[in-house]
Amino acid sequence: MNLLKICPVCGYSKLSDTPYDECGFPTYIICPCCGFEFGFDDESNGFSFEEYRNKWIANGFVFFNKKKKPHLWNINMLKKQLENIEKVKYKSRFT
Ligand SMILES: [Zn+2]
Repeated sequence: MNLLKICPVCGYSKLSDTPYDECGFPTYIICPCCGFEFGFDDESNGFSFEEYRNKWIANGFVFFNKKKKPHLWNINMLKKQLENIEKVKYKSRFT
C-alpha cells in the first residue's frame, strides 16, 4: 500500500494525513473536497469509494470544506483531480 495523502474517492491530493495507516487502519480524517470520512463512511456507513464518488458527483460534487475550496471549482478541475485516484491503492473493507 502506498501511503499518499490522496483521497481515493475524489482524488483530492492535499489531505492533512493519509486516509489509512500502514496497517490499513482508517485515520478518521475527512476529505475537504468530497467530505468522505475514512473509517466512518466506509466502515460504519458501508459505502465503497466508488459508490460514494458516484453519489457525490450525482449530487453536484459540492466542495465540502468551503474554506479550502479552490477559487475555480468546476467539472474540468474535478476530472483532472479524479486522475489522481489511479495513483492510490487504498482499500477500505467495503471496496
Ligand atoms: Zn475526497
